[in-house]
Amino acid sequence: MIKAIDVHTHPSDACTHRRQGEWLEHAERYFKQPQTEITLDQQADLYREREMLAVVLALDEETVTGRPPDSNDELAAAVARNSDVLVGFGSVDPAKGALAVREVHRCVEDLGLRGMKFMPLTQAFFLDDPSVRPVFEACADLSVPVMIHTGTTGIGAGAPGGMGIRLKYGRPIPHLDDLAAEIPQLTIIGAHPGWPWCEEMIAVMWHKANVFMDLSGWAPKYLPESIIQNANTLLKDRVLFGSDFPVFHPDRWMSEFAEADFRDEVRDGILRENAARLLGINLDACVPGSPIPYT
Ligand SMILES: [Zn+2]
Repeated sequence: MIKAIDVHTHPSDACTHRRQGEWLEHAERYFKQPQTEITLDQQADLYREREMLAVVLALDEETVTGRPPDSNDELAAAVARNSDVLVGFGSVDPAKGALAVREVHRCVEDLGLRGMKFMPLTQAFFLDDPSVRPVFEACADLSVPVMIHTGTTGIGAGAPGGMGIRLKYGRPIPHLDDLAAEIPQLTIIGAHPGWPWCEEMIAVMWHKANVFMDLSGWAPKYLPESIIQNANTLLKDRVLFGSDFPVFHPDRWMSEFAEADFRDEVRDGILRENAARLLGINLDACVPGSPIPYT
């Protein structure tokens, strides 16, 4: 039986570390731990052993950093080798315009990726900027969810000027709220509780049924009270387990989640059912070692 779906994990291989460049050093200092280097196959093993599925997220911020993106092709190949455990989300840098729109189509139609990841802070764009609208329309047309980072970030944290990264791009209202309003058929997962704008994320979710939240990047024992309270009640069908691996190990996340003040009747939804519904995974038909059954 699949025990949980971790909707937010990052590749942490040599390629990813090259893409992060000097940002990595500061992230290591901020999170007070070195970023482990493991291959996607080893990452799949880690989740396989725990009877969990994991969404792995690529990232392309090339127009900002000048560094090569994570390869959507390599990610898709790793997902194909580990199709019993991994779910792939591709990435495009929205500033690439028409190229980015084409790449969204290629990710979904040719590579079989199941969603797209966006990081407005390091990609330096506003979600409600009309120039990036076609990228999100393409995701909606292809019926794939988008995961969008919200709130502050460990990238650049503790460096003078935060290494030029502006937190304004992570603010839910108006940017994420506008996007959700403009493309109501687009399913949006707000990544992380959105701190320091948790209440804004909650408000957006109350108001817009196409917006979800993953709890990643935050130790469950330190989750803001309002997030837990809403996950226990009004938003119980739209809150998702995410670790932000390698920043948080799923074992640590699970043990702290067990101790946190979530009601027993919402735990299964948060751990797997909400994600299964969103990603179109038939949990009852999952067989160890066989490809994930999509509906
Ligand atoms: Zn993350």
